[in-house]
Amino acid sequence: MSILRVALDLPLPRLFDYRVAADVVVGREDIGRCVRVPFGRGEKTGIIVDVVAHSQQPVEKLKLAGAIFRELPPLPAEWLALTEFCSRYYQHPLGEVMALALPPYLRRGKLPAARKEKTATRLPAPSAPSVPPALPTLLPEQAQAVATIAAHFGRYAAFLLHGITGSGKTEVYLRLIAETLAQGKQALMLVPEIALTPQLEGRVAARFPAARIVSAHSGLAEAARARGFVAALEGDIDILLGTRLAVFAPMPRLGLIVVDEEHDASFKQQEGLRYSARDVAVWRAHQRQVPIVLGSATPALESFYHATTPGGRYQHVELTRRAVAEAPPTVRCVDTRREKLQDGMSAALLAAIGERLERQEQSLVFLNRRGYAPVLACPACGWVSRCRRCAANKVVHLADKRLRCHHCGLETAIDRHCPTCGNLDIHAFGRGTQRLEENLATRFPSARILRVDRDSANTPAKWRAVLTAIHEGHADILIGTQMLAKGHDFPRLTLVGAVGADAALFAADFRAPERLFSQLMQVGGRSGRASLPGEVLIQTEYPQHPLYQALVAHDYARFAQSQLEERRQAGFPPFTFQAMLRAEARQLDDALEFLKQAAALANAQLPAGISLYDPVPMRMYRVMALERAQLLVESASRPALQGFLPQWVEQLRALRTSRQLRWHLDVDPQEF
Ligand code: ADP
Ligand code: ZN
Ligand code: ZN
Repeated sequence: MSILRVALDLPLPRLFDYRVAADVVVGREDIGRCVRVPFGRGEKTGIIVDVVAHSQQPVEKLKLAGAIFRELPPLPAEWLALTEFCSRYYQHPLGEVMALALPPYLRRGKLPAARKEKTATRLPAPSAPSVPPALPTLLPEQAQAVATIAAHFGRYAAFLLHGITGSGKTEVYLRLIAETLAQGKQALMLVPEIALTPQLEGRVAARFPAARIVSAHSGLAEAARARGFVAALEGDIDILLGTRLAVFAPMPRLGLIVVDEEHDASFKQQEGLRYSARDVAVWRAHQRQVPIVLGSATPALESFYHATTPGGRYQHVELTRRAVAEAPPTVRCVDTRREKLQDGMSAALLAAIGERLERQEQSLVFLNRRGYAPVLACPACGWVSRCRRCAANKVVHLADKRLRCHHCGLETAIDRHCPTCGNLDIHAFGRGTQRLEENLATRFPSARILRVDRDSANTPAKWRAVLTAIHEGHADILIGTQMLAKGHDFPRLTLVGAVGADAALFAADFRAPERLFSQLMQVGGRSGRASLPGEVLIQTEYPQHPLYQALVAHDYARFAQSQLEERRQAGFPPFTFQAMLRAEARQLDDALEFLKQAAALANAQLPAGISLYDPVPMRMYRVMALERAQLLVESASRPALQGFLPQWVEQLRALRTSRQLRWHLDVDPQEF
């Protein structure tokens, strides 16, 4: 028992064996510990995943392991199993999975300085009273939801908690967390990247003043992230509130998992290990035999399907009414086909904003396109501000007088004349949030206007400042992208106007309508309180479109069922399972050629029930000077697909061309 089997952060699907010096005692208790090992000409830190007596290589050929990092408890077997599952399921090397799941500090074998100060990991919440606030009396549906879910404590069960914004889902989570803590267990709550607001943190901290709460999100400094992880590893926290990476935090006494806004795209990582934190959380709940609650106003269609199919994977728990406001907002389509719009806005929307200003209420204009205008163009010769590295136009950013590509970040000055024909009369075409801001400022000169998008709120600190400004009523008109749609409580907001939404109706990605519905529903849900009814106006040229009709009727189920029917006919998820092989190269042809070889390999021994599409260029076929193509693999059976992928990926790795370009496999892809 003196050979360490070590996972290293390398793009290779294998482990590495090291021997230990004769005077060093190692045992199975070292499994899950970090170790320094020689690698190539340098050293690396890896994780011991096994301690064995024999290696396939001759022992004398093995290199000698360095120091084992014993200052911390080892990563538990359960954590190793979780990362092994991800490695298998997503076809990603184990060492890389572990490196992602572990904070960089610990990965380098360093301890965060302040680990002994346990309080340092707690949320501040200074104004929190030492006596918990009086709890609201649960509505019957809420009480039922809590009882149903709590009846499953101590074993695995997955619930879809489905209720519109304000229906009291968070209150249900809090009650379940309270019961979990009362049993001496820990709760893990996952939230979308942007929704981790002071509001939610504050609410949790105020409800559990005595609990040890750690918040974990990408805005954290490395040391803070490592401190949170160590506290979790030592069983020193009660509630972990975090974004997708938090799904990998060790929780020795885990009793409950909550995934709020489970449909949110940010739960899926779009690079490296392309995991879905929601799906991994479900696996983890099963592994740990604890209940998991997936909450949403507009569930992912997959989740809705699993919750509404008899014998399906999830139980459907519904909250059908708002907890505080009597009525949901009125939703209306403004038909813009016969109207001459003023700066992209209809008379109805402008009048509605005017009324809000008079009543000192807030309005929000939703436009999911940042920048001033999507393109600068020359009407004389047809020149457009193309990005030279991407299949996209550079966007006009007038605020800082730049043209900027939203795909690769390339920036240039705004051309004064057409670079092709010299024409001085070139224009910004179309409309983004900055232009809307300018237009509204002209029309409502006395209004306080606040634009909220990734340009104006690009750091957590700025984002918090924006939320505070809105909350304290320092803005009359908000202009925002989907950033504003998520999880915030704006007390004086009574009008939401959506402009430019139609573009998503006919997008190539089959999930685009689902995202549009969810965004509009979410953004609409921001408006209206008991005393101040809300109104949502959607400007559209397709007022009869079933998606908008379902929004007007507040009928998610109708929308979901019609979408599911379309997907059933088209053979898309949730009726099939997919994996996408993507390749990128300097020349599109090379990427396509690799995919053709990959397809040939697959077709040579294709198991029954697996189908392969043709390799095609991606819609955004060029990004950062790399040209990209993709190949879709599909099966009606997840086990069949999972059974096919490992051998295929192994063959792909062996292809000579696979080392000449970049490629990856995306299991359960979300973007097309
Ligand atoms: P959701 O998470 O579904 O958006 P919340 O749990 O945040 O809903 O509830 C919306 C608002 O209603 C919050 O201000 C919350 O404090 C309040 N609330 C929730 N449940 C009740 C209840 N049973 N009685 C009174 N107020 C409630
Ligand atoms: Zn020109
Ligand atoms: Zn670009």
